[in-house]
Amino acid sequence: MSPRTLLALNWKMNKTPGEARAWAQELGERYEPAQGVHLAVMAPAISLPALAANLPAGVAFGAQDVSAQESGAYTGEISAAMLVDVGARYAVVGHSERRDYHGETDAVVAAKARQAQAHGLTPIVCVGEKLDVRERGEHVSFTLTQLRGSLEGIGTDVVVAYEPVWAIGTGKTATAEDAEELAAAIRSLLSELYGEAASELCVLYGGSVKPDNIASICGKPNVNGALVGGASLKVADVLGMNDAL
Ligand code: PEP
Repeated sequence: MSPRTLLALNWKMNKTPGEARAWAQELGERYEPAQGVHLAVMAPAISLPALAANLPAGVAFGAQDVSAQESGAYTGEISAAMLVDVGARYAVVGHSERRDYHGETDAVVAAKARQAQAHGLTPIVCVGEKLDVRERGEHVSFTLTQLRGSLEGIGTDVVVAYEPVWAIGTGKTATAEDAEELAAAIRSLLSELYGEAASELCVLYGGSVKPDNIASICGKPNVNGALVGGASLKVADVLGMNDAL
């Protein structure tokens, strides 16, 4: 069985609860599920209840981060149990913006992913190289090393998103061949770690994905969908990507 296609949206720090409610209601009026495509919205934690109450049936949601801790004196953190309580199904971990601006290491990312899994959330583990690494031709080895560290102690209920940092929010998209090169390498590492289960796991591409490029990228054999930032904010773009898949 080939993996399903996951269209995962990352709103980043956009949309108040009121804006999230309006977005979800607009989606509900216009959304037609595409065969085999699973849609999931990663929203700011404070906007998750508005999504829970207003998203159309079959559309999942999740958080953009989760604490590595269970509970207690961790001011400002949001626990996996809290996310599950509002109905979240996913938690993004290790987004390059968290790695860069919050100093998250592979060990921290793995601890967050383990905590997500311990509560039944599927972690979406992000990895990917910066431009200088790609220019040195070290993008495959860099990304696989990062992934190995970020999956330490992680079971098979996991999604991996390959997001070359130079393509995030820049309008520069990797070619479908670039995406497939890394997705295939990631699949090999997943096979080494998880055996046959690797063929069932979703490997996503992220980095300036839009309605007009999603089909070619996700048409590659090892790319099972996309993690989308900028083009996730307007319902029309999301419907365009959903229809293109
Ligand atoms: C992201 O935030 O994960 C992302 C891929 O952003 P964008 O689609 O805007 O490049």
